[in-house]
Amino acid sequence: MWKKAQKIVIAVLCAAVVFATSGCSGIYQPWEPKPAATEGRFFRQEEPLPEGSADYTASAAPRAQAIQETYAVAVADPQGLVTPDLEDPYFSALEDTLAAYGASFVQNVVNAYVQDGYAFVVAIETPDEQAVAEEYTGLCELDDNALVIHLYASDDPDLNGVTVETFSHEFAHAVHYDAEYRYGEDELLDRYSAFNNGIAYDLDAVELPAGYDAYFPNDYAYTDYYEDVASCMEVLITTPQETADKLADEFYAPLRRKIEFLRQVFEEYYGPCDTAFAPLS
Ligand SMILES: [Zn+2]
Repeated sequence: MWKKAQKIVIAVLCAAVVFATSGCSGIYQPWEPKPAATEGRFFRQEEPLPEGSADYTASAAPRAQAIQETYAVAVADPQGLVTPDLEDPYFSALEDTLAAYGASFVQNVVNAYVQDGYAFVVAIETPDEQAVAEEYTGLCELDDNALVIHLYASDDPDLNGVTVETFSHEFAHAVHYDAEYRYGEDELLDRYSAFNNGIAYDLDAVELPAGYDAYFPNDYAYTDYYEDVASCMEVLITTPQETADKLADEFYAPLRRKIEFLRQVFEEYYGPCDTAFAPLS
């Protein structure tokens, strides 16, 4: 069986001002799995994840278990950051994001990975040196045996990635990786970027040139094809009313057509995703 190509895409950045000042090019680096902690600050009782994901174990916190049961997503907590407390705030961002994508859609995405031999893990972690230096809040990595969405927990709200903003963005990268594997990487890139009407992505861009917001959901989307896809899902889920208003405006018709195409591809493979794409209706 053909393996999915290894990928790593840098996270959503925490704010436009960071984007403008830090130069948020994608980071391409080998994945170095972090060793699981042997004990945590709070509750630690872990279960092994599926074969191929020996570096992460699933949290046994009740809300993590509930997420796994409803969505098939394993939540890893290698540093013991989450608690069994049902009020633990980290879980709300995970639950809200997954609810927006929908249980059946999420399960189908996860199963697409599992059936190809990959574990699917969301890991809540303290940011590593690189994340701190680059000021990114999450990361989506696909290596030989696992798709891992890293969400970096931080006391600094600007650098906290355990949010709907970051998770909705990173989960979209995971959907996109699998979808392009099925659709054909080059074909999907060609079809999707054709909606940009000849405008090329600019990795060094700091802001959208005048008029380009008819094509891209935000400044970050203009830097890179993968960030464009992830940013579309992020704005649909995190600012649904504002995005609905935009997409109803004829000026944004190119962006609307691009998002309609994205919906068509995603729903073809993973079924209805009505809540996330509600701003289209
Ligand atoms: Zn991204």
